[in-house]
Amino acid sequence: MAEVRENEITDSYGENVFNVRAMRNYLSEKACTSLTKTISEGSALDASIADEVAEAMKTWAIEKGATHFTHWFQPLTGITAEKHDSFVTPDNEGGAVLRFSGKELIQGEPDASSFPSGGLRATFEARGYTAWDPTSPAFIKEGPNGATLCIPTIFCGYHGEALDKKTPLLRSMEALNTQICRLGKFFGIDCPGKRAWPTLGPEQEYFLIDKDYFDARLDLVQTGRTLFGRKPAKHQQMEDHYFGSIKTRVIAFMTDLDHALWSHGVPSRTRHNEVCPAQFEIAPMFENLNLAVDHNMIVMDTLRSVAEEHDFVCLLHEKPYAGVNGSGKHNNWSVCGPDGKNWLTPGDNPHENAKFLTMIVALMKAVDTHADLLRASVATAGNDHRLGANEAPPAIISIFLGDQLSDVIEQLEKGGASSSKQSGFIKLGVTSLPTLPRDATDRNRTSPFAFTGNKFEFRAVGSDQSCAGPNVVLNTIVTEAIDEICTALDKALVAGAEFNAALQEILSGLVKKHKRILFNGDNYTAEWVVDAEKRGLPNLRKCPEALAAIVTDKAIKLFSKYNVLSEVEVRSRYAIYKAAHEEAVVIEARCAVTIARTQIAPAALAYQAELAETITSVKAAGISDVGETNALLKSVSKHINGLLAGIRKVEEVEEAGDPLATLAAMATLRADADALEGLVPDDMWPLPSYTEMLFMY
Ligand code: ADP
Ligand code: MG
Repeated sequence: MAEVRENEITDSYGENVFNVRAMRNYLSEKACTSLTKTISEGSALDASIADEVAEAMKTWAIEKGATHFTHWFQPLTGITAEKHDSFVTPDNEGGAVLRFSGKELIQGEPDASSFPSGGLRATFEARGYTAWDPTSPAFIKEGPNGATLCIPTIFCGYHGEALDKKTPLLRSMEALNTQICRLGKFFGIDCPGKRAWPTLGPEQEYFLIDKDYFDARLDLVQTGRTLFGRKPAKHQQMEDHYFGSIKTRVIAFMTDLDHALWSHGVPSRTRHNEVCPAQFEIAPMFENLNLAVDHNMIVMDTLRSVAEEHDFVCLLHEKPYAGVNGSGKHNNWSVCGPDGKNWLTPGDNPHENAKFLTMIVALMKAVDTHADLLRASVATAGNDHRLGANEAPPAIISIFLGDQLSDVIEQLEKGGASSSKQSGFIKLGVTSLPTLPRDATDRNRTSPFAFTGNKFEFRAVGSDQSCAGPNVVLNTIVTEAIDEICTALDKALVAGAEFNAALQEILSGLVKKHKRILFNGDNYTAEWVVDAEKRGLPNLRKCPEALAAIVTDKAIKLFSKYNVLSEVEVRSRYAIYKAAHEEAVVIEARCAVTIARTQIAPAALAYQAELAETITSVKAAGISDVGETNALLKSVSKHINGLLAGIRKVEEVEEAGDPLATLAAMATLRADADALEGLVPDDMWPLPSYTEMLFMY
């Protein structure tokens, strides 16, 4: 029985993916070998096999019920895009055949004119090109009455300018590969033909809401978050939701979700209730970063579609509800070296540990040098409501290493000082290194960038964001740090230094310079904000100032040096992200005005009239003591005045075009609306309450 069940799961795993198993069944041996080589070694694609691969993919896809194919890409809107073409081709005899050519597989030419290009289009052409990324396998997306073959592609302009998230991601992985392999050689790791790649395991948080409640909330439908809503008496104070037993309706959803993901080869592993009521998490096994990013896009898509089948709506917004926890993504990042080993795992011998410490110091250097850029990579309208809200990492970027590893790093710093001859301090390669902590037993949930034993966890990423952007930054800044370490080593060796001594000196110098980025304390406290400022760490609180880091000279140089993004590409991205933030705020402001004016004000005014009439009729009946009712009426009237004035204010400020001032005006408007929600009878209130949305499912 167990065996039958096991086979059911293993047989259906990846059934919707044109993976190595499918390739073996549908391709000639020669084509299969060539394609798998391209995928595993990143070698150039052999164009002569394209037709055969396309034919095989078509046959496989048609057997799966597909009628169409699409180049599946990730424009700068942050979501995925697809334009379907059918395989159907007229045969000139009044009938049709199903065709799919190598050319159609390798390159597409969608009209790019409606995708954001941040000014690139003005200088170049409106045309856009998609090009097959063979390192991420094609897959089937099933619809109710058919299916579509999805081919992951990059998306660029006429002259190769990146118009998407995947292109710079692949470029940054290439740059990192080069520097990691270069560093490996210093440690005797020389693996010709083998590549290094970053790994990613993104933990994804989300909310579920009953579809009927969702449909009754214009704010959720239009903006993804509640713009109004009074905090309920009980929300997450008891911490009784986190890891609690999962409700039947939710587990039914989660089970379907897992099966759908497994069929797409997404290695979904972990599921649990999160801190806030109606909040949950899903986490996959980590994979090659490029694939993991694509898979996370599929996870977000699948969350939404499976939720719908269960009469839920999945909310991926970073802060759907005010006053309770929001949702993020924990971006677990590491590097798999050309030797196939995780380079962020402490090793078994001094040599491996010296390499490990070099990586840790490189990360310190990278994050300290480009803290502003990392912060910018998670700057979105939604995430602004979450970062620093005392349940999420603050906007100040720092690194948590844990006490043991921090201690090792401190010793490393001192051991490198020429004056220090004390034993007990680390001398790379001279004395054998102490046993390094294998398990980060100490955990710190408040750090934005935490070392967790064998990987770094960047926790400031927003739940609704593509993981691509933050990882482009991470890959590139680490590339630069390793490059500079290698260059310093080269120089020292040419000057006749001994390797261990040279490395020791370089690393201890870097620790000295960058140790201000280490912080093991509570990142949620006000003291940390003060301390961080003293240390000179940037605190870029909101999008407008955070995004500016993308276009500093430092950032532009960094991205061009490693061929990740050219200056025009960087500038176009900045323009797009800035506009997206401004546009999001305008939409929210207009939506808030509509709800306040057409739903909340009428309900409050009706109740005001009811109260006034009640007072008159009670008095007419001869009861003179209506003091409390009068006070209630006064209170309602006061907040109605506030609400109506607030509406006008939001309109005015929004017109003036300052997003932060608009958000402030919206908060004032909300205060009056939420106060009214506590006064107006429940059956007159036009919107589902927080209690209904968070608890009734
Ligand atoms: P938590 O951080 O909640 O304790 P885990 O330690 O189980 O959870 O891991 C969280 C995520 O980190 C998982 O998606 C896991 O696959 C991923 N992960 C583990 N090792 C690596 C690695 N070497 N590189 C990238 N991600 C990793
Ligand atoms: Mg985690």
